[in-house]
Amino acid sequence: MSELRTLESGSRYDLRKGLSPDAPDESEVRDEEGSFGYCHSYETSSRYDGPGLRAVVFVSGCLLRCSYCHNPDTWHLKDGTYVSLQQVLDRLSGFAPSLIKLGGGLTISGGEPMVQLAFTRRIFQGAKKMGLHTAIETSGFLGDRVDESYLSAVDLILLDIKSSDPDTYRRVTGRDLAPTLRFAERLASLSKPVWVRFTLVAGATDDPANVDGIARFVAPMKNVQWVEVQPFHKMGEFKWKAMDLEYKHANTEPPTREVVNRVIGQFRDAGCQVR
Ligand code: SF4
Repeated sequence: MSELRTLESGSRYDLRKGLSPDAPDESEVRDEEGSFGYCHSYETSSRYDGPGLRAVVFVSGCLLRCSYCHNPDTWHLKDGTYVSLQQVLDRLSGFAPSLIKLGGGLTISGGEPMVQLAFTRRIFQGAKKMGLHTAIETSGFLGDRVDESYLSAVDLILLDIKSSDPDTYRRVTGRDLAPTLRFAERLASLSKPVWVRFTLVAGATDDPANVDGIARFVAPMKNVQWVEVQPFHKMGEFKWKAMDLEYKHANTEPPTREVVNRVIGQFRDAGCQVR
């Protein structure tokens, strides 16, 4: 049993390591109750994770291993802080009036929020009771785990589609692409609002055919309000070193303006609203 601690505010770029050594492996989470969970940190004023001003809770646990991940310290529950649901909701209730006034809300990111399904479900339900707009940032890899009642507590899905090509997806994330595409199609059939996020990494995801594949997949989906192209950066590189992980992108530069414009143009030409 992990030791209960205080949820830390801070930044997604703070390194958190080894805070709950007794935590289960992220592939074996049993959080049927959702009264407790593992979090990396939270931010109170993000403008990048959904509409308006957002509080963002970064939860621990992810089954993907993206080679360019900015936050490898969110992969394992054992690196997170063990906190109670009540503590998270108490914190959130302090910000709720300002978030509502500024047209924002709560976003749960990670890590992958669907690893701790009951915990994140109850945070979303609590946030809805406060009148907050809610958003989840997810790879969709665990989308099959999510039922309609979970989705009913989430207003917006920020869906990271990292590639349209199964081989590229596996090379970049270590996992299968199919669950993400299946989840995207299900969200489209439910008319659930989605912002698709695509991380543009030179030499990994920037191939024109890869971009075209995502653009053609997404363009017919009326529920996709935005495609957001996110240029690769190295703000998380120091974490890989601190965690003794091999970082494959030490020599990868952020994409040039020219490449970013080319990719934005590909999405636009396919009929997507892109930024
Ligand atoms: S899905 Fe997100 S948190 Fe998980 S490895 Fe990929 S970038 Fe990192």
